[in-house]
Amino acid sequence: MFDVVVIGAGPGGAQAALAFSERGRSVALLDSRHDIGNKLCTGIVSTECAEEYSVPQDLRKFSANGATVHTPSGRSIVIRRNESQAIAIDREKFVRGVATAAENSGTQLMLGFRATGIVINKFGVRVTASSNGRTEVIEARSVVLATGFQAPLADQIGLDTPNTIGLAAQVEIETDDVATVQVYARRYLPQTSFGWISPTGPGTAHIGLLGREHPVSALQGFTDGLEQDGFKYKVLSRPRYWGVPLRASRRSYGYRCLAVGDAAGQIKPTTGGGIYYAMKAGDMAAQTLDDALARDDFSTGRLKKYEEHWKSLLGKELRLGYMARLFYERLTDAELDRILLAADDSGILDGDVSFDHHSVLITKALKSSLFMSVLSAVPGVAARLALSR
Ligand SMILES: Cc1cc2nc3c(=O)[nH]c(=O)nc-3n(C[C@H](O)[C@H](O)[C@H](O)COP(=O)(O)OP(=O)(O)OC[C@H]3O[C@@H](n4cnc5c(N)ncnc54)[C@H](O)[C@@H]3O)c2cc1C
Repeated sequence: MFDVVVIGAGPGGAQAALAFSERGRSVALLDSRHDIGNKLCTGIVSTECAEEYSVPQDLRKFSANGATVHTPSGRSIVIRRNESQAIAIDREKFVRGVATAAENSGTQLMLGFRATGIVINKFGVRVTASSNGRTEVIEARSVVLATGFQAPLADQIGLDTPNTIGLAAQVEIETDDVATVQVYARRYLPQTSFGWISPTGPGTAHIGLLGREHPVSALQGFTDGLEQDGFKYKVLSRPRYWGVPLRASRRSYGYRCLAVGDAAGQIKPTTGGGIYYAMKAGDMAAQTLDDALARDDFSTGRLKKYEEHWKSLLGKELRLGYMARLFYERLTDAELDRILLAADDSGILDGDVSFDHHSVLITKALKSSLFMSVLSAVPGVAARLALSR
């Protein structure tokens, strides 16, 4: 019997397995894929994340010192810093590297195994998994669910999955037309969406978007708009679509079980960035469960500490980020233009703006008199902001 079975070897699950193994725990890490890490993603992480999780230099494909934000009417706001803010990484190789490090520390890596059922009782956890028509039962004392967006297994063990979701689309391109990250605040996009062109190296980039509208037509409208603007590129891959949780699930712990990463909705609601939070959650899950394993106490009272821990670090980010997203989605194009230009004029975009902690920027905006005076002219918005302070 393993101490823990981790289902899903994305950034969250692979990091959890590594952290467990490094603590001397016996771990099974299974994933239905063989090509772990190859999930639809732009692969941008903050410099802070790349340093904390030691992303190897050869997997850092592009480093961005800033970004250009395009407002709905086509005005451009250039954000520039002296230091690198974000790095586009080779996500597939990075996640594979974390899983390999876990394996080297003793984790049993089971690729090509799809978990189809979980039963938890007072004796332990039984995970049924299938691989090439063969069924295996993996027994463990506890389970970490790290299966990403949409986690049907969560229902079986009394966890709930995030029910507020966004839809994302992305395509890989070849282009000489983009030097740094371009963010499109609803320009060429429907009401709730924002888009990006994100370089991945010399001559290559991703075009992508996140919103709540149908991603196929949204991507078509976005690329049509970019072309009208004269943006030159060649498509390298077929478009791919996937979901992004926009709010945390209501419960990320249960008897003998925890959920991490997208399965628990631990993702920035503003940008849909979830790699860093998933890895942090993997570390926190290992910390709480290690303690539970040592005490042989898997009660909800003990495992609740995990949720308290991650909420103390990320809860405010998720709450304020979701509020910012709702504002964004409800503003008219003209209002969004005014607010973005006011943010630029008021200086709130200058200085240190953390890539991972958007609450800092939101709080800074709430304290800027120039920004707030523009905002207060937008019907309904000021009242909501005042309530949230
Ligand atoms: C278009 C797009 C762009 C994005 N860009 C960024 C970005 O630039 N930066 C960023 O930080 N985040 C980005 N994200 C979000 C990021 O990809 C996720 O937040 C992150 O991957 C979450 O990690 P995870 O470990 O929770 O889940 P995942 O990475 O989804 O991994 C889950 C794993 O579980 C496996 N699995 C699922 N079900 C089972 C099962 N039943 N049995 C066995 N295995 C199973 C899957 O095969 C997968 O390997 C983006 C998302 C999208 C859709």
